[in-house]
Amino acid sequence: MLNHSSAFKLSDDDALILDSIEKWLERDVQPHVLKFDHADEYPHEIVEQMKELGLFGATIPAEYGGLGLSATTYARVIERISTTWMALSGIINSHLIMAACVARSGTEEQRQTFLPRFATGEIRGGLALTEPDAGTDLQSIRTRAVKNGDHYIVNGTKTWITNGIEGTCFALLVKTDIDANPRHKGMSMFIAEKGEGFTVSRKLEKLGYKSIDSAELIFDNYRIPADRLIGLEEGHGLQAALGGLELGRINVAARGCGLAQAALQDSVKYAQMRKTFGKPIGEHQAIQLKLGEMATRLQAARLLTYDAARAYDTGERCDMEAGMAKYFASEAAVSNSLEAMRIHGGYGYSKEFHIERYYRDSPLMCIGEGTNEIQRIIIAKQLIERSPV
Ligand SMILES: Cc1cc2nc3c(=O)[nH]c(=O)nc-3n(C[C@H](O)[C@H](O)[C@H](O)COP(=O)(O)OP(=O)(O)OC[C@H]3O[C@@H](n4cnc5c(N)ncnc54)[C@H](O)[C@@H]3O)c2cc1C
Repeated sequence: MLNHSSAFKLSDDDALILDSIEKWLERDVQPHVLKFDHADEYPHEIVEQMKELGLFGATIPAEYGGLGLSATTYARVIERISTTWMALSGIINSHLIMAACVARSGTEEQRQTFLPRFATGEIRGGLALTEPDAGTDLQSIRTRAVKNGDHYIVNGTKTWITNGIEGTCFALLVKTDIDANPRHKGMSMFIAEKGEGFTVSRKLEKLGYKSIDSAELIFDNYRIPADRLIGLEEGHGLQAALGGLELGRINVAARGCGLAQAALQDSVKYAQMRKTFGKPIGEHQAIQLKLGEMATRLQAARLLTYDAARAYDTGERCDMEAGMAKYFASEAAVSNSLEAMRIHGGYGYSKEFHIERYYRDSPLMCIGEGTNEIQRIIIAKQLIERSPV
């Protein structure tokens, strides 16, 4: 189904990239999604193809070996991938947020050492922020790094870490000063590669977002060289994490658009095939009302997402815009997948169709990269800050 957002045209080069991703998804991914999702099996072969397509370097600047895509093009790529299989986008999303943390807050030496290896997918990983007792309130994390000569010794637990099992390197948020006031001044971020003292304690089982590993990570006297401290200065960890999350929120919004699109396009097709009372269900007004709402919701979500990406690309402040896009597009995914299930009747509940997968995958978009409760609080705070009396 066509994407009608003509207000946000891609360059010819970017359109070519999107076209090759589209062909790859149709040929090599779509036929296998149900099998992988139902078996909760990691798609190793597909990940190798993602490396060849350059997706692990999608937003890494070209001077460090990446594709250097703008956030706008990246959002379109993620939306398209998520229309076929949302979980797949999780493999590159947190990996690219880790890369964005290094690109934005790292030293030139750290950029040169890590970004080219992230770009090829030689090192893959993600973002290790959340802990068993700290998600939204990141400033209350307990993982601690204590300086010891030219190393730090890290102890603590991280949970829900995407790519935790298959990945080898993580942007790790820790406390370097537990008494700092304000608390964020005692927070730092490291580029942490797996090794002695850094282990995976368990794989976490989930409602949806299958096949992609979510894990708990344990740091037990893990020694990390001091030159892995991002920016080489303590106290800037939260800032580095939040900077990366803007791109992350645009990505989650794009994933929401992809899921909302998938639910709509399957429904438009089914509404023409399934007949009741002598005519296709798409000719009953009750179904038409649903399709009309689903399509409008999707288009609004898309416009918010592309606008937030445009603001990110031009360097404008976009925390409110990314928050609005993430909030609206994730709720659109949840609503569209539920409506798709109603339109499909009993078949919507069947594992032979993709609808029940959209329904299981969508709610994660409301939780990850800051819950939707927090997004609305960010929007309100920004409204007041940008319009002082
Ligand atoms: C599948 C999956 C993958 C994930 N991947 C990663 C990853 O790769 N890396 C990573 O670091 N984390 C990851 N997470 C963790 C995710 O970011 C957190 O779950 C999320 O930030 C929410 O934190 P929490 O679960 O601790 O909820 P809590 O912070 O305990 O929140 C519970 C509820 O209280 C609400 N709430 C909290 N504070 C406020 C407030 N001030 N005002 C109003 N409401 C509030 C929340 O909105 C929520 O509804 C993942 C989670 C899942 C489920």
